[in-house]
Amino acid sequence: METLDMGKPVRYARAVDVNSAANCIRWYGEAVDKVYDEIAPTGKNSLALITREPIGVVGVIVPWNYPMIMAAWKIAPALAAGNFVVLKPSEKSPLTALRLAELALEAGIPPGVFNVVPGFGPEAGEALALHMDVDCIAFTGSTKVGKHIHVMAGQSNLKRAWTELSGKSPNIVFADCPDLDRAVEAAVGSVFFNQGESCNAPSRLLVEASIKDRFLEKALALVPRYAPANPLDPATIMGALVDRTQMETVLRYIALGQQEGAKLIAGGAQVMGDTGGFYVEPTVFDGVTNRMHIAQEEIFGPVLSFTEAAEAVRMANDSIYGLQAAVWTRDINKAHGVARALKAGTVYVNQYDEDDITVPFGGVKQSGIGRDKSLHAFDKYTELKTIWIRIDSPL
Ligand code: NAD
Repeated sequence: METLDMGKPVRYARAVDVNSAANCIRWYGEAVDKVYDEIAPTGKNSLALITREPIGVVGVIVPWNYPMIMAAWKIAPALAAGNFVVLKPSEKSPLTALRLAELALEAGIPPGVFNVVPGFGPEAGEALALHMDVDCIAFTGSTKVGKHIHVMAGQSNLKRAWTELSGKSPNIVFADCPDLDRAVEAAVGSVFFNQGESCNAPSRLLVEASIKDRFLEKALALVPRYAPANPLDPATIMGALVDRTQMETVLRYIALGQQEGAKLIAGGAQVMGDTGGFYVEPTVFDGVTNRMHIAQEEIFGPVLSFTEAAEAVRMANDSIYGLQAAVWTRDINKAHGVARALKAGTVYVNQYDEDDITVPFGGVKQSGIGRDKSLHAFDKYTELKTIWIRIDSPL
C-alpha cells in the first residue's frame, strides 16, 4: 500500500516502513509501565508528587514520505500515555493509516480511541488544528504548514503543538575521514534513499578541498546504481516521486541550480515518462555555494549538492534549518568540537542514518519543536501535575 500510494520501492516498504512502524508500536506498548513519576525532595511536613497525566485528545497530522512510520512515531506514545488520537494522513498516502485503524480494532483498542480522518490539509487538517476539544497537535510536514499549525493552536485553545519540519542537512567530510569509501556510500545512499524524499537527507555535501576530486569521482561511480525503476519490482532501490507536483518542483530546482551557476554533473532529467509515473534521475551538482537556492531550500528529491568547504562549520550552520548533520574525521577532538558546534537535533560522526527507536529524533531552528521516538516522546503527550500533600506527623 505504501508503494502504491507514494512510489517507494516495495523492498524498502517491507523492510523499513512496515518493520519500523511495528517495532515502534511494540516498543511503546512495552515501555509504558516502566516509566515512573517523581517525588520531590521537599521538607518533612509535606510531600510533593510530580505526576504525569494524559493530555486528552491528540490530533496527529503526517506527510506522505514515510506515511506509516511518521504516524507510528506519534500515535504509539500518545496512545500508550492514555490519550485519544485522531490521525489525519496525507491526502497523497491515506491507505496504510486506514488499514492501521482496522488492525487497531482487531487488536482490541476500544472503538473511538484511535480514529483516522483522511482529508485535505486546509479542510481536515485545519479542522483538527483549530478544534477547541483537541488538546494537542503532533504535526510532521513542511516548515511552511508547521508555522501555520502554531498560529492555529494560538488562535484556538492554545493546544500543545509539536512540529517535526523540513531540513537541509549538511554532511561535512574532512580530509582525515577514516574511510573514504564508507563516507561516499553513506553520502550517496542517504541522499537518494526514498527518492530523496527524506526530511533528513544529507543534501548539502561539504568536502575539504584536498579530497574533493577523489570523493566526487567515487560518488559519481555509484550514481548509476540509483537509476529509477518500477517500485513494485523487488530489485528496485529507487522508485517514483510521489506525484507530478513534486516532480515539477524537483525539476524546477534543478533548472534554478543551473541558472545560478552550479555545475550539473549527473542526471537532471525526468525519465520513464512513458510509464505515466514521475521519475527523476539521481542528480549531482558541483560548485554549489551557500547563496544558491539549491543550497538553502529543501528540494525533497534526488539531488546532491557538492561544495568545497573551507569554513565547513560556518557554512553548515548558515541555514534556517537544523534537523541533522554529519561530520567525518578520525580526529576525536575535532569530531567532538564540530558535533557540539553544529546546530542540529542530531549529529552523526563517521556514519549517516543510524536509527533506533530508543533515540530521540527532531530538529532545532525552523526544523521544528519537540522530539519523536524514545522515552522523551512521552513529554509531548502528557502534562505534569504537582500534588502537594500536607503531612502532620508527630515523628
Ligand atoms: P505538508 O506540510 O504539505 O503536509 C503535511 C501534512 O499537513 C499533510 O497531511 C497535509 O494534508 C497537512 N496540511 C497541509 N496544509 C495544511 C493546513 N493548512 N492545515 C493543516 N494541515 C495541513 O508536507 P508534505 O509535502 O506532506 O511532506 C513533506 C515535508 O515533510 C517536507 O518538508 C519534509 O522535510 C517534512 N518531513 C519532516 C520530518 C521530520 O521528522 N522532521 C519527517 C518527514 C517529513
